[in-house]
Amino acid sequence: MLNAYFCNSMSISSDKLQYLIQDPNLDSDLKAIAQKVMKQERITFDEGVLLYEKGELSYLGVLANYIREQRHGNKTYFNRNFHIEPTNLCVYDCKFCSYSRLIKQKEEGWAYTMEEMMDIVKQYDEQPVTEVHIVGGVLPQYDLDFYANLFTNIKKHRSDLHVKALTPVEYHYIFKKAKIEYAEGMKRMKEAGLESIPGGGAEIFHPEIREQIAKDKCTGEQWLAIHEEWHKLGMRSNATMLYGHIESFWHRVDHMEQLRQLQDRTGGFQTFIPLKFRNQDNQMSDVPEVNVIEDLRNYAIARIYLDNFDHIKSYWAMIGRNTAQLSLAFGVDDIDGTIDDTTKIYSMAGSEEQNPAMSTKELVDLIKQVGRHPIERDTLYKVVQDYQDYEFPEENKPKYYALPVINS
Ligand code: SF4
Repeated sequence: MLNAYFCNSMSISSDKLQYLIQDPNLDSDLKAIAQKVMKQERITFDEGVLLYEKGELSYLGVLANYIREQRHGNKTYFNRNFHIEPTNLCVYDCKFCSYSRLIKQKEEGWAYTMEEMMDIVKQYDEQPVTEVHIVGGVLPQYDLDFYANLFTNIKKHRSDLHVKALTPVEYHYIFKKAKIEYAEGMKRMKEAGLESIPGGGAEIFHPEIREQIAKDKCTGEQWLAIHEEWHKLGMRSNATMLYGHIESFWHRVDHMEQLRQLQDRTGGFQTFIPLKFRNQDNQMSDVPEVNVIEDLRNYAIARIYLDNFDHIKSYWAMIGRNTAQLSLAFGVDDIDGTIDDTTKIYSMAGSEEQNPAMSTKELVDLIKQVGRHPIERDTLYKVVQDYQDYEFPEENKPKYYALPVINS
């Protein structure tokens, strides 16, 4: 029954693409791109820009949904993790950041000790989480040895917990301070217990934009080099793009092109996560946010352009539940996870979800409501639980099932 539904759904998305290609009114450039998608051929840089300039939402949705269903059918992934945000104090001053407080504003910040971080880990001892996600501000006391010890302590305490931690922003800083090369640093992190790297800190790679919004932290080239060293160790990571501020469509395609080229070399990326710029309480509050149409167009173009990425993810906590449901028809196959209040990154930036919390059942229902097939995954996309025909125990139905997640 289920298989019949999948086949039916996939043949519908294929039929829609055929109809689109046969439309006599379709622009000839857009038709050529649709034909490439049908033949599973890669689109060029200029075609990526063209999609942003000319591709209407309905057109992009047909292409992206076709690719999504060819790869994953109706499967829609989520995971269960929790966050540790070691500090919101930061030596950097990214203009879009609503989260960090400069060290001089210390009274508004927090900076956990090793013991406090381990206490957070222990709070989840009895819970079926599969991953701890660690990311926050950059401070001198959180150096190479500190993080190496933290990863080792977590793995000693709970070996089944996957440690996904820090971005090239932190790694560049701590390796420079320790006077070691990226390759040696990543090897040290792996030996200490690090298992994967989230996608944050990428923003927009091109220096024309990066220097205006995040000029002091690692460059785009350094971000890519650190991921490349990590991939060379046989390890996996994610990638993000902060879109919808002062960048042009060309900069977005340039960003994805650099990711596509690195992925061709290493195959180490799992998931691409477009992150919407939010303008609350930061130094770019005068920059308007893009609308939901642009959010969906951006997901769809990412799905079309990044032909060597397995997964495209949206964060329901960042874009809201309704847009997250819509995104599943525009190329997205992962909506991250159940979440409690262990992350403040999105609520502090002005997300609709000020107190993001969703039980496993609510998340499963959210996915099923739009005809998709919910799958709980671990960090490396191994199936933990297939929820398509799962019956939640009666006693769990009204109860909040606290399970967190977020971010790249
Ligand atoms: S975005 Fe990251 S690196 Fe930049 S100021 Fe915020 S916490 Fe610091």
